[in-house]
Amino acid sequence: MADTYAQLVNSGPGRNLARKLGLPQPAVLRRYEPGQPLVAGPVVVLGDTAGADKLAAELLSWGLDVRRHAVPAEKLGAIILVLDELGHPADLEMPVLAAAGSLRDLRAGGRVITLSRPAGEASTPEAAAARQGVDGFLRSLAKELRAGATGNGVLLADGTTSTSPSALGAVRFFLSARSAFVDGQFLMVSTEDGALPEDVERPLAGKVAVVTGAARGIGAQIARTLHRDGATLVLVDIPGAGDQLAAVANEVHGTALQLDITGADAGRRIIDHAVQRHGRLDIVVHNAGVTRDKLLANMDQARWNQVININIAAQLRINQALLASEHFRSSPRIVSVASTSGIAGNRGQTNYAASKGGVMGMVRASAPLLTSNGGTINAVAPGFIETDMTARIPFGVREVARRLNSLQQGGLPSDVAEAIAFLASDAAGGINGEVLRVCGQNLVGA
Ligand code: NAD
Repeated sequence: MADTYAQLVNSGPGRNLARKLGLPQPAVLRRYEPGQPLVAGPVVVLGDTAGADKLAAELLSWGLDVRRHAVPAEKLGAIILVLDELGHPADLEMPVLAAAGSLRDLRAGGRVITLSRPAGEASTPEAAAARQGVDGFLRSLAKELRAGATGNGVLLADGTTSTSPSALGAVRFFLSARSAFVDGQFLMVSTEDGALPEDVERPLAGKVAVVTGAARGIGAQIARTLHRDGATLVLVDIPGAGDQLAAVANEVHGTALQLDITGADAGRRIIDHAVQRHGRLDIVVHNAGVTRDKLLANMDQARWNQVININIAAQLRINQALLASEHFRSSPRIVSVASTSGIAGNRGQTNYAASKGGVMGMVRASAPLLTSNGGTINAVAPGFIETDMTARIPFGVREVARRLNSLQQGGLPSDVAEAIAFLASDAAGGINGEVLRVCGQNLVGA
C-alpha cells in the first residue's frame, strides 16, 4: 500500500509544512539497483589498529574512494569506525569524536558502520564495558542520523578479524543500498568461513533455492531477488494459491511446487523436487507464515494451532528432513522469516509472537548442526513491511506503526528479500545462528 504521507512530505509545499509543524519527514531511501556505485561517496575509515589499516586497504582494492582521516567539508558516503582493540571505555574517545566531526558531511543515504568485538568474550571488566559501550553508542547514533542514513555494527568473535570473509561481506552489505531498511543492528561474524563472490552482481549464481509462501507478498519478492542474484528457484505455496504461484514461477524462470508445508512429508517432497528438477539444493528460505490475531482471552484452539503449525512446527519438521538428507550437505543455507513481534511482543498476537520467537530459538539452537557441512541457519525479523498483511491494519494504527522507527516509514518486501539474499550467499558463510532485524530500527523492542 502506498505511503501517501511520505509522498506528501517529500513534495515541495508538503516538506515545508511538515518542517514547520515538526512532523515526521521520512526520506526516500536509496535502494539497490544492479550497477549502481556501492556507496554514495568517499569512505572514511577511523581507528588506529592494524585491523583498521587492513580494512582500509581492502576497501581500496574494491575501487572505493577511501580516506584514513576526514577532509574538512568533503561530502562522505560512509564513516567506518574500527574498534577492534578496545581495552577501556576511554579508548572510544578518539574514534568517536573523529566521527562526530564528519557526521554533518554524511550524504543522504550515507552509512555509519562499527566493527567491534562481542562484550561476552572480553577478558576484563574494562574491555567488556568498552565493547558493550559500542552497542549503546551505535544504537543511539542510528537514532540521530537523518536523510535515510543508517548505522549498523559488525561484531567480530574471537578468531575473526576486520578482513575475515564474512566481516567484509557484512561491511559490504551494510555499505550498500541492499541494507536500506536495516538500521541500528549488529551482525556477529563467528568464523573465518565464507568468501566474497567473484561476480558481486550475481552472488547466488549456480545455487538452487527453495522459497516457501512464494505466491505473493514478501515470498514472491524473495524469489525475484534471489533470481536477480543468479539463483535457480523452486517456489512453494499451498494448492489454493496455485495460479499466483505459477505466475511468479514463470516470472523468475523457476519451478512451482504446490505443497502445504505442514504436511508430514513436506521436507522430503521439497528435496525430491529440487534434486529431480534442478539437480541440487543449496538454500531453503522459510517464508510462509500466517497471522490469526486474537487477544489471548478470546483465543481458540484452531487459531493457536494453525499459527504454531505453519509458522514454526513445519519449519522444524522440514529442517529435520534437510539435515538428514545427503543432498543438503554442500555449504547449505537456511534462512527463516521471524518478526519483531516475536522480540517485542504485540497485543493480539500471542500465538504469532510465540511462533516467531520460536523461529529465533530454532535458528540459534540449529546453528551448530550445520557447521560440519559448512552450512548456516539465520533469521531475519521484519518490522513494519508494506504488504497485504499490513494493509489490513486499521488506518490509524497503521499510520502510527509506520512512523515508529528511526527511518519513519514502512519497509518494502525488497528490503527483507535483500537481507535474505545476503544471508543465503557465500559472503555470509561465517554468520550462523543470528537474527537480523529489518525494521528501520523499530522503536519498540529496542
Ligand atoms: P502473505 O500472507 O502475503 O504471504 C504468505 C504466503 O504464505 C501466502 O502466499 C500463503 O499462501 C503462504 N502460506 C500460508 N500457509 C502456508 C502453508 N501451510 N504452506 C505453504 N504456504 C503457505 O504474508 P507476507 O506479508 O508476505 O509475510 C511473509 C512472511 O513474513 C511471513 O512469515 C510473515 O509472518 C512475515 N512477516 C511479515 C511482516 C509484514 O509486515 N508483512 C512483518 C514481519 C514478518
